[in-house]
Amino acid sequence: MYDVYLSLGANLGDRRLALETAINALKNVPEINVQQISSLYQTAPVGGVKQDDFYNCALYLRTSLTPTDLLVKLHQIEAAGKRQRKIHWGPRTIDLDILVYDDLKIQTKSLTIPHSQMHRRSFVLVPLLEITTGKLHKQTLILLQRLGDQQRIEKIGSVFNEADRVEKN
Ligand code: AMP
Repeated sequence: MYDVYLSLGANLGDRRLALETAINALKNVPEINVQQISSLYQTAPVGGVKQDDFYNCALYLRTSLTPTDLLVKLHQIEAAGKRQRKIHWGPRTIDLDILVYDDLKIQTKSLTIPHSQMHRRSFVLVPLLEITTGKLHKQTLILLQRLGDQQRIEKIGSVFNEADRVEKN
């Protein structure tokens, strides 16, 4: 089994539900054991495109899947989450990224691990910091300190707890 950390983000429709649905889909994969989920964060979009705030979280799982096979599963879950459904809350968007896969370093056309942008994104590093320990926790903290904190990022509760939900958009 390999230790894997993911970043999850959603910014369309019911964002908390989109994250919850993706996590439930991960839990239903036989080769995946979800170990820990960070708090839910509401974060300002980066990159200048005018759009709603994102909801983000990080997730720790253990899996026997190879990085490539795991990516295929993530794409399937993303595709299901992005599908337009004729139900009242409309389309949703969900992004799933592999941040860290054990001690692996790979760079192929379809996969870069550790994730190539994680050191630039506090919306990735802040949730990740919550669920890491030991060496990875120290590394995450160093990345976060180097980055400084320019992005608005706010802890708003838990992905699985409706009562904690705060609607700000
Ligand atoms: P995006 O939707 O912008 O997050 O980009 C998704 C694409 O990035 C996927 O189709 C992957 O092939 C590629 N990619 C490269 N490295 C990673 C990674 N560590 N985790 C997830 N996707 C990755």
